[in-house]
Amino acid sequence: MRLLLFVSLSGLGAAGALQAATWEGQGLRSALIDLCFVGDGLSNNPTRVQEIRALLPEFTRAVNVRFNDLGNCPAPTILANGNEDYGAGLRIRVSGSNITDPASGMIAGKGCQHAQVGSSFAMFPDEAEAHRSCVYNVQIWDDADSSGVHYRNHPLHEIGHALGLRHEHIRADAISSSACQDADFGGNFSDGYITPYDRFSVMNYYHPSCGISGNYGHQGLSALDVLGLRVLYPDAGNSARYFGKLVAREGEAIQVYGGWTWLGAAPNATRNINWWLDGTSQGQNSSYTWQLRPGAHTVALQYTDLVGKSFSSTFQVTVLTDEQYRRRVIAPIVSPLL
Ligand SMILES: [Zn+2]
Repeated sequence: MRLLLFVSLSGLGAAGALQAATWEGQGLRSALIDLCFVGDGLSNNPTRVQEIRALLPEFTRAVNVRFNDLGNCPAPTILANGNEDYGAGLRIRVSGSNITDPASGMIAGKGCQHAQVGSSFAMFPDEAEAHRSCVYNVQIWDDADSSGVHYRNHPLHEIGHALGLRHEHIRADAISSSACQDADFGGNFSDGYITPYDRFSVMNYYHPSCGISGNYGHQGLSALDVLGLRVLYPDAGNSARYFGKLVAREGEAIQVYGGWTWLGAAPNATRNINWWLDGTSQGQNSSYTWQLRPGAHTVALQYTDLVGKSFSSTFQVTVLTDEQYRRRVIAPIVSPLL
């Protein structure tokens, strides 16, 4: 079995590069993502292609992304300067694709300025956009466990990069959060945090001595991988997320929670949060508890996420008088028993 390293190109030390759930800081994709298999991959290695395709629902059922699977990658358009433009969708190279990279060690494609990498890798969204002249921007080889089963987490890891996720194990808080002392574990990257450090993330490398399977596991996306991707690829409409006790009985408190913190995200995931109650500014806490007079009250919530996208919601909270509470809440519960 070949031992391949799973590094993003940026992970190799490209200038300005930073390295889930942690956002790389190099762009995001649109919610509808073109995806194709380069060269002869589809016809020569249909089994591997099908394995990769079978993993795509891990993303689509969790977050607001959809893959437009084109099958074989289409031919490039030719730019005015003669360079090829293959687009910025996920262009996946698998074993058997019969792509011949230039002898110079660059990825194939007229105008492509990106070093060929032997390991599996995926370009981050902005990298893919900047390298539209490259024949492929994702490479997924056949690494397998001792039983010969391809690691489920491996394609998820690379597609995670393509969606913008950084290596989880190079976070500045990875060592302190996990107590893992492996030599190649840990890093200095302290930006882009979406969730607390996640030892179960597919975006880790394989550190078996620390119980971290990472890209060499079969567990699939972790709960925090999913949460991180939900923050990066929110539902359409940019509605601010809120939760709480929105209907109370007279004398009880209304409680509201906004943004992503209440779901377990890092503070970094929700920024510039602001609340208004009946038109009066309340402040910038992630949650509030209010004692309100009976009646309907209007709450407005706004925040931005870690990439600067704005979200807002306006909703009502209601305090019922004792009489209203008996009529609306108690009576409907009791009446079916009569
Ligand atoms: Zn990687």
